[in-house]
Amino acid sequence: MLKSKTGILAQKANIKERKLGLRWLLGLSTLPLFGIYAAFAIAPQTALQEIEISTVIEEIILPEAVVETAYAVDPQNGFAQDSYWQVDQVRRDDTLASLMRRLNITNNEAIEFLRVHPDTRAFSSQLRPGRSIRAELSNEGDLRRLEYEIDRTTAFIVERGESGYIAYKTDLALQTHNTLKSAEINSSLFAATDAADIPDQIAIQIADIFSSEIDFHSDLRKGDRFNVVYESLYNDGQLVKTGQVLAAEFTNQGKTHRAVMYRNPEGQISYYTPEGKSLHKSFLRSPLEFSRISSGFSMGRFHPILQKMRAHKGVDYAAPTGTGVKASSDGVVDFVGVKGGYGNVIILKHQNGVSTVYGHLSRFASGLRKGMRVSQSQLIGYVGMTGMATGPHLHYELLINGQHRDPLKVALPAAAPIAPQYRADFFAASTPLVAQLQLLNASSLASIE
Ligand SMILES: [Zn+2]
Repeated sequence: MLKSKTGILAQKANIKERKLGLRWLLGLSTLPLFGIYAAFAIAPQTALQEIEISTVIEEIILPEAVVETAYAVDPQNGFAQDSYWQVDQVRRDDTLASLMRRLNITNNEAIEFLRVHPDTRAFSSQLRPGRSIRAELSNEGDLRRLEYEIDRTTAFIVERGESGYIAYKTDLALQTHNTLKSAEINSSLFAATDAADIPDQIAIQIADIFSSEIDFHSDLRKGDRFNVVYESLYNDGQLVKTGQVLAAEFTNQGKTHRAVMYRNPEGQISYYTPEGKSLHKSFLRSPLEFSRISSGFSMGRFHPILQKMRAHKGVDYAAPTGTGVKASSDGVVDFVGVKGGYGNVIILKHQNGVSTVYGHLSRFASGLRKGMRVSQSQLIGYVGMTGMATGPHLHYELLINGQHRDPLKVALPAAAPIAPQYRADFFAASTPLVAQLQLLNASSLASIE
C-alpha cells in the first residue's frame, strides 16, 4: 500500500476516482490541511455509507501543502538515519523532470534510468494527476526506492539491484474486509443485487455456487431471498475490487441452501455446505451461462419455454443469440456439427452412459472437435437459432443409456465431501462465516418487527 494523504481523505467520500478526492480536497482548502487528514483517518467500514459526491470541478491546481518530507531522524531513538521518504502526488501538468525535481532526486544515474530505460515507460507514460508517489532518498539525494500507483491495484517500483536500478510492477497490498449483504428477489437476481448494491461479479458467483441446486434461469420466485458474505478489497480505504464469495445462504421456493468457501492448502477453492458436504454436482442444473443479459430474457418471468410437443425430449432455454453454453459435466465431444432440425449441435458423452445434447447453436467454441475432452462449465458454444427454431434459444437434452430424461428432474450425484485431512481446518474457517450469515438473518428479522 502506498501511503497517500489524499487517499485517506478520499475514503471518507466513498467515490470511485481518486482524482475526485483531490478535487474535494480543494473545496476545503481554506481549512488547515493536516488537521483534516487526522479527522478523516477512519476505518473503511464506517466510511461507506456517508458522502455521495456527484459534481466534479474540472480545473484544479493541487495544493503545495500535500508534499511531505519525513525527517531524517528516527523518532524512536533519536539517531540520525541515512535516508528519508519524500511523499507526493502527481500534479496536473507534471512532467517527469518536474516530478523528479520536486522529489529531490538529484543523482544522475537515477534521473537517466527514469528518463530512458524501457522498463520505466509504465511510469513516465502514466503520470496521472492525483496518483500517489513516494521516493526514498539517501541524505545525499540518491534515489534508493521509488513507489508509484499506476492504477488502483498496481504499483510501479524502482529500486537498486546488484548492478544499478531495476524497475518492475507489483500488486498493491490491498486490505480485505468482509462485506455482508441481504437481498430479496422481486423480479430477477440482478434487480435484487442492484437494489442491495451488490456487484454483478458477486451475483454471478452466487448463481455459480448454487448452480447444482438452483437453476437461476428458471427456479427463482418472488420472495426468494439470500444472504451473502464476500471479500471487498481496499487500497487506503478506497474500495478497488471485490473478491470471492466466502459464504452464502439462498432460500429458493422455501428451501434454504447454504454454502461456505474453503481454500485448501493447495489454494483450490471449493464450496461446501456448513456440514462439509460438497455443493459441486456432477451435472449443472442449467448449461446456460448466467449473465445479466441471459437472466432477464423473455422468459415470461422465470420459466424456460418448456415445449409440450410429444416428440420434444428436451428443455428449451430462451436466451439472446451469443449467450455462452457450458458443458454440463466433464465429458468427451461425441459430435460437433450440423444435424437436421437441431442445426448446429454438440453432443457430449459423460460417465455412466449419460450424454447431453446442445442444439440450435449460432456457433461453437473455437477449436472444439470430436474426441476432445471438456470439463464441467467449460464454454462449448453459443446460443443461436440454427435448424428448426423460431427464435434464439438453447435446446438441451439429457439421455441416460439412450433414454431421454427430464434434465430438470433427474437426481444428480454429488461430489465427495471435504477431505478428512482438511475437516478441522474447514470447520475452523467456516464457523465464523456461518455465524455471519446467521447475523444477517437475525438483523432482517429484527427489521420486520
Ligand atoms: Zn427444443
